[in-house]
Amino acid sequence: MAGYAVPENELIGVDEALRRVMEGVSPLPAEKVGLEEALGRILVEPVLAREDIPPFPNSAMDGYAVRSQDVAGASKSSPVKLKVVGSAAAGYTPEVAVTPGTAVRIMTGAPVPPGADAVVRFENTDESLLGKGPKEYVSILAPAKKGENVRMAGEDVKAGETVLEAGALIRPQEVGLLASIGITTVEVHRRPRVAILSTGDELLPPESEIFPGKIRDANSYSLAALVRKYGGIPIPLGIARDTEEDIRSKVRQGIEARVDLFLTSAGVSKGDYDVVKAVLNAEGEISFWMVRMKPGQPLAFGYVQGVPLLGLPGNPVSSIVSFEQFGRPMLLKMRGFTCLEKPTIRAIAAERFKNSGRRNYVRVRIEKSGSCYIARKAGPQGSGRLQTLSRANGLMIIPEGVMEVKVGEEVEVQMLDWPEIVQCGFGEKGNLE
Ligand code: AMP
Ligand code: MG
Repeated sequence: MAGYAVPENELIGVDEALRRVMEGVSPLPAEKVGLEEALGRILVEPVLAREDIPPFPNSAMDGYAVRSQDVAGASKSSPVKLKVVGSAAAGYTPEVAVTPGTAVRIMTGAPVPPGADAVVRFENTDESLLGKGPKEYVSILAPAKKGENVRMAGEDVKAGETVLEAGALIRPQEVGLLASIGITTVEVHRRPRVAILSTGDELLPPESEIFPGKIRDANSYSLAALVRKYGGIPIPLGIARDTEEDIRSKVRQGIEARVDLFLTSAGVSKGDYDVVKAVLNAEGEISFWMVRMKPGQPLAFGYVQGVPLLGLPGNPVSSIVSFEQFGRPMLLKMRGFTCLEKPTIRAIAAERFKNSGRRNYVRVRIEKSGSCYIARKAGPQGSGRLQTLSRANGLMIIPEGVMEVKVGEEVEVQMLDWPEIVQCGFGEKGNLE
């Protein structure tokens, strides 16, 4: 944990803020999970295969198991006639061997009978796909090389081989690979437990009626959804009033719940009731509380009783955009990821964008036009305007110090969704990848 004095009005850049935030978290310890829990996790230790996959030579096609030398000269005009001596189905050991001049009818996945070294698929025989059933003879209409349409034992995975390295991400294909080698539990980094606390006297839970001066708490819900999206476990702490005592008591609840990270929203700007900073100062230490970015200049980071706390701004857009920049890589690092940068694309500005000079994350709508991406404003950019973020599929990054982006200029965009996915929610038809 790094200690920093709290310069009264220190305003730092996004990169420096990110550096300090990332110093505050480490990959979490391992836990053992079953395959159904393994998706999206990072392996702590390598996985070695105990057996060959496939465990025995088997057919890659429905056809006839043959000796390649018997059919070397086969063609449509001079077919090779073989005696069918049996059949081989997936799941059973073959009862007969293939001897010179014979063949075994074989299904995909069935063990290749002794004596055979190739499989001729039905399409290269006189077998009609409709005419099933036992046959006495088959005519082979094309040659088959040794090993053709045969999946060799150990061709996918060899016994003793490292199948997955430590640090590998478990995707659906790794889940299948692990199942295929009989590994049903893996050691992976634990998922971060993330406390979520909204602060503000004006906040009511979403199920509540609206009273004068009050608004509904959007951030607890959007932040919990983000935590889930990036593989954490949200621990909701509810709404704290704008008092140090209330925030402190909620923080205590989080400590008791053994959280790995606190996310708070609001109460970090310069207003009279912005008490999150005060609690950070009293309960631990504060690293910074202002970052040169838009939306979201007020952004606090520090520690309470040794647990990192990211104090996000209250405006619903600012809290989400700041989370994407800081919370997302923190969660990924705790989960054991090493590639932490959010991927970006290059797009062409279809209109002019003005900037204040801070690094700006502009809510844009990205469309594909031929081989290019085109960026347009998704709507008005006020930090309270959550609907504009709902209509956006990307965040265009205007670098610090750049005051304007002209029409036709190339820009960098963080994608929230891919432009090929037509968004649900405002009259268009959904299309999930
Ligand atoms: P603050 O950071 O406390 O100055 O809040 C900035 C703005 O965000 C104010 O307009 C708040 O009412 C609003 N706000 C704070 N917390 C939330 C929340 N959880 N959901 C929706 N709006 C919020
Ligand atoms: Mg407030």
